[in-house]
Amino acid sequence: MREKLIEFRNVSFRYGEEEPWVLKDVSFDIYKNEWVAIIGHNGSGKSTIAKLMNGLLFPQEGEIYINGQVVNQDTIWDIRKEVGMVFQNPDNQFVGTTVQDDVAFGMENRGIPRDEMIRRIDESLTAVGMQDYRLTEPHRLSGGQKQRVAIASVLAISPQVLILDEATAMLDPKGRLEIMSTVSNVQDRNELSLITITHDLREVVQAERVIVMNEGVIWDEAKPREIFAKKDRLREIGLDVPFIATLADELNKSGLRISNEPLN
Ligand code: ADP
Repeated sequence: MREKLIEFRNVSFRYGEEEPWVLKDVSFDIYKNEWVAIIGHNGSGKSTIAKLMNGLLFPQEGEIYINGQVVNQDTIWDIRKEVGMVFQNPDNQFVGTTVQDDVAFGMENRGIPRDEMIRRIDESLTAVGMQDYRLTEPHRLSGGQKQRVAIASVLAISPQVLILDEATAMLDPKGRLEIMSTVSNVQDRNELSLITITHDLREVVQAERVIVMNEGVIWDEAKPREIFAKKDRLREIGLDVPFIATLADELNKSGLRISNEPLN
């Protein structure tokens, strides 16, 4: 059986005592090496979940565990080593003057020996296909390239989970595809859990499991195909199922059977 990495137990959260609850009694598990997509329209509570996972926020009710360790003020520094996050705006994520400085930055405070740092810069930039840009100044990169470097910076710290919170939202279609293929390559290495947060259903096709949020509660939790099959109900909560996601089913219905299983 797969080991649990993240556990949300009856988590409720609000941004202040007078504010409405934005998460209501939310419970789910995320397993080691799993790719989970969290979807929902704007304001459904997705980013709040991400911030609770690395101790940027704490729940008023319920508990969150990472590797069996409860997330609280005393544990956040341990937790943050294990939970890497990439956010929406590629321009807010750079601290270095070159790509390699930027990837090195997160490691510098962690006392990682220089040889090991060089090895990790190499490895993480290769994992995102940016190994030829080591000495490039970040402002010369496209949005997609910047987000790939942001992913490399997180990978270099070797977290157990990588969370991408709407990491493609500000990118053009080319940049979006770059990130989706990078994420899928990273997942193929099978060394970390991956959580992709999005309101765009095209981005959940490859995930193993999808958690659908609506108004602060889990609306559904299933494999992508099972979620897509509920397209009429998804539309009612503001989510459009992309044509490409239902193509296989449409072809099957019209008698043009194609397999949904991988060929090998
Ligand atoms: P999503 O990521 O799905 O768009 P969020 O988790 O960002 O949703 O937001 C959930 C709800 O919490 C929304 O109603 C939003 O307006 C509210 N919210 C988010 N951040 C804050 C904040 N800093 N202060 C008050 N309310 C907030």
